[in-house]
Amino acid sequence: MITLEQLSNSVETHLITAIIDTALCVGAGGSSGSLADKPIVRNAEGNLLIPASQFKGRLRHECEKIANGLLWPICESPQPQTMCPQRAGLEKNFEREEYKFNDKEDTAYHCLICQIFGNPVLQSRLRCDDLVCTEHPNNLPEVLRSGVTINRRRRTAEEKKLYFLETSPVNAQLRFEGDIHILPDWTSDRPDYAKALIWAGLRRIYALGGGKSVGLGWLHWELPEITIDEDVWQFLGKGGLQ
Ligand SMILES: [Zn+2]
Repeated sequence: MITLEQLSNSVETHLITAIIDTALCVGAGGSSGSLADKPIVRNAEGNLLIPASQFKGRLRHECEKIANGLLWPICESPQPQTMCPQRAGLEKNFEREEYKFNDKEDTAYHCLICQIFGNPVLQSRLRCDDLVCTEHPNNLPEVLRSGVTINRRRRTAEEKKLYFLETSPVNAQLRFEGDIHILPDWTSDRPDYAKALIWAGLRRIYALGGGKSVGLGWLHWELPEITIDEDVWQFLGKGGLQ
């Protein structure tokens, strides 16, 4: 059974970098969208940044796909009803030893993904900082410094709107850096697979934004080298075994 360990182990912090490969669209998503809809915003100092909320959701989704591919039963985010521990309407068997947290009937089992990313009753082991552009705003092209709304159709600037749709020069390779923090594993009963899954998930994020908005475009990641123990891969490969 999984027991909740004291958070005595230290939190692991890693610097991750997103490098934008294509032209950058700032704030695409419109004024009606929430912060999470905007792939790039600006902090108080005027630095461009990718909000943590923007890539953390995507990261969870990519990790879900990987875990599904490894045949682990995974709940469906982001609606609480279909996430662990409720899992309304989900047929798969979640009552397996690797998912067991406690002996309480209604919160006993949490899938592999919830154990990293959390759910309404379990806190996330992953904390992400916003990724901040390393280029000083003064060195960015005028279009990215201004911040005024350009209405493409009418070719006029719209004042008092924070979003705009302008692109940086192609191949500017702007770098966005920030830390991710991984809290200690809930258990020592099995190998800690969190980093292996997070790194694999990050590498599958090729673009951010998208949907109806133009989005921020294509990117790749510079991630710190990590060593994954063989027993972690062995563990992750056991998804199909009951
Ligand atoms: Zn879950």
